[in-house]
Amino acid sequence: MKKYLISACLVGLDTRYDGESNAEAVFSDMVKTGKAVPFCPEQAGGLPTPRDPSEIIGGDGQNVLEGKARVITDKGQDVTENFLAGAKETFKLAKLFRADRAILKSKSPSCGCKCVYDGTFNGKLRSGMGVTAAYLREHGINVIDSEDYLKQAQKLYI
Ligand code: SF4
Repeated sequence: MKKYLISACLVGLDTRYDGESNAEAVFSDMVKTGKAVPFCPEQAGGLPTPRDPSEIIGGDGQNVLEGKARVITDKGQDVTENFLAGAKETFKLAKLFRADRAILKSKSPSCGCKCVYDGTFNGKLRSGMGVTAAYLREHGINVIDSEDYLKQAQKLYI
């Protein structure tokens, strides 16, 4: 059976920057049945939990991979290297589990697949990917936005 990687906060692990989760039963069921392996790239990159919120300044995750943008906390600390390390660790996990796809939490500076916060810490979004999402995509993993997955799952049950 092909496995998914899945953002740890989506399955109920309290990995979010504020020590909370974004638990959804459909995602925790995927772990219980062996279809998905949870991970948190920000923790894997060495950041603590709870931690200061971060946003990408000057672009999106792809721009971070290209060295054209940085990830900065709301207190001005540059955590770009942690985000890059987390992305690489996540890809290692994908290879270990032979996962060829990942369901990733929407809007996160690591996991967002379609949009991320714009770096102003004002709640505004810009189109683009988080750092881990961009890294996984660059390495051949099919990345799926968690909100898109939920919409599809709901259609199946209607
Ligand atoms: S980095 Fe990804 S898995 Fe970790 S808390 Fe943020 S959205 Fe969830």
